[in-house]
Amino acid sequence: MARLGIMGGTFDPIHYGHLMTAEEARDQYRLDKVLFVPSGHPPHKPESSVTESKHRYLMTVLATLTNPAFEVSRVDIDREGITYTIDTVTDLKALFPHDQLFFITGADAILEIITWKDAHRLLGLCDFIAATRPGYSIEALETKLGALYTSYRDCFHFVEVPALAISSTDIRQRVRAGRPIRYLVPETVDHYIRKNRLYQED
Ligand code: NAP
Repeated sequence: MARLGIMGGTFDPIHYGHLMTAEEARDQYRLDKVLFVPSGHPPHKPESSVTESKHRYLMTVLATLTNPAFEVSRVDIDREGITYTIDTVTDLKALFPHDQLFFITGADAILEIITWKDAHRLLGLCDFIAATRPGYSIEALETKLGALYTSYRDCFHFVEVPALAISSTDIRQRVRAGRPIRYLVPETVDHYIRKNRLYQED
């Protein structure tokens, strides 16, 4: 049984914090592969505030190109409607029925996913790896997860990633302000953003 990481995110844009998260998760949890899955329409964000999916997908492909353990999936961006993680995981379980799935994303996003609905069904399909910045209170997260955490303790894992000090929001603001994003994103992503004039307006 292969161990497959599913790296869920809006990736608007993808940055080194995301790449470090995937690599740390791969190493710590002995994942055979990490599949990056850019969201279609995230449920908690107005559609107009998210960059067109074709750009987010292509930036993710460019950023992951040099790591043989990383791949990119279009399942979320090709599915109509709002992107719910239960659909992402169900689709991928159908594609990889024999793999053990680990859904990797930011700790706060995991709280939203798990407390939304279908928690028991989700936890029956995959484990979760919550990425945290140093200083993040894992105890507080466990308390918020409450009885779910107590019942499914073995399905929750954590990875602390100092590079998560980088954030997509900050990168978008920097581009808008004409400030550099070099060393925050791979060079190819920096070029892609400039060439397509992304993040110029609010
Ligand atoms: P978000 O709310 O924009 O992000 C919350 C925090 O997590 C931010 O600090 C973000 O940093 C960080 N983050 C996001 N993806 C990450 C990743 N893969 N690795 C490390 N840190 C990450 O979250 P989002 O990107 O829209 O959604 C994350 C995933 O959760 C997506 O797959 C989305 O579809 C899913 N989701 C599902 C539901 C649901 O099913 N009800 C609800 C919410 C989210 P950056 O801003 O720098 O990325």
